[in-house]
Amino acid sequence: MAKNIKVYSHQNLRRLMEEQGLGAYRGDQIFKWLWQKDVSDFELMTDIARTWRKRLKQEFSIVGLDLIKRRKAPDKSQKFLFRTQDNRYLESVFIPEQRRQTICVSSQIGCALGCRFCATGLIPLQRNLAGYEIAEQIQIIKRCVASPITNIVFMGMGEPLLNLGGLFESLEIICSSLGFGIGQRRITVSTAGIIEGMEILLKSRYKVKLAISLNFVNQDLRAAMMPVARKNPLKELLKLARKYSYEKHRVTFEYVLIHKINDSLQDARELLRLIKNIPSKINLISYNPHPRLPFKRPETKRIEQFYQYLLSSSHTVVLRKSRGGKILAGCGQLALDLTNTKNPL
Ligand code: SF4
Repeated sequence: MAKNIKVYSHQNLRRLMEEQGLGAYRGDQIFKWLWQKDVSDFELMTDIARTWRKRLKQEFSIVGLDLIKRRKAPDKSQKFLFRTQDNRYLESVFIPEQRRQTICVSSQIGCALGCRFCATGLIPLQRNLAGYEIAEQIQIIKRCVASPITNIVFMGMGEPLLNLGGLFESLEIICSSLGFGIGQRRITVSTAGIIEGMEILLKSRYKVKLAISLNFVNQDLRAAMMPVARKNPLKELLKLARKYSYEKHRVTFEYVLIHKINDSLQDARELLRLIKNIPSKINLISYNPHPRLPFKRPETKRIEQFYQYLLSSSHTVVLRKSRGGKILAGCGQLALDLTNTKNPL
């Protein structure tokens, strides 16, 4: 079977073309055709001689994800369901705003971390997504919405820092001037708090933004709600967050407000105490309920009180508007909507 040329990283593509006798620079040309020019037929790669195009076509295929379903929410965000070549499913979200057009990508199929409040955590981990499969989510959505994409967030299904290979390979495509050309400051990797992965990201050549899904200010409660915290304790996590803020970018702490679990003023006080020495931004998100989970969003008054309290600090605090809730496309709601598709699982 012809090998899918999209699986090759930029460097591997250069190496491959050299081995084929075409010269490494052909690897740059093909990479650009595939990712920047979004071409899926070797015949259209017109700066490559016809005989070579024919040979490439005989030896390689160009395949990626299949778009299975697209749903639009009244607030204009959109949810996309994709199928991989090995018949697995994943979702991504497009969030248009006045000045930013953001795509929220998935990094894994399912998730092994099982955070209690997250619907994705109900789907067992099937596998990591390859770098090209992460980049394909962006490429297909870009094509569908016909609009330039300004920001990428790794906040969809899965934990990106448990798929560092896929993450770095996709970043190569996303950031390269021969790929999507999106600046690293416009890319946010969100983690539930994988300390080892954060250390590797910190040492890597990438200067992307880091968001930490903090949510609970007490180690025991955090470990109960986010089992990953048992092996990645709060104290260590905050130490590393501080390092990231000083050495790369100011980190963002994501705090999902859940009714009567973590929405008291006492929680807000403790949050500020914990992060007082960390230059950071706080993103407050009111919980997006999911029919398969028992948790609720706090009352608006309680959210407002929490938010106002945080505003008294020196941190930048943003109360994020919930987007896509009506189509279960909000934060923590991606759980594979396979209804009304031709190929349900
Ligand atoms: S919040 Fe993130 S890490 Fe936790 S279960 Fe959901 S997808 Fe996985």
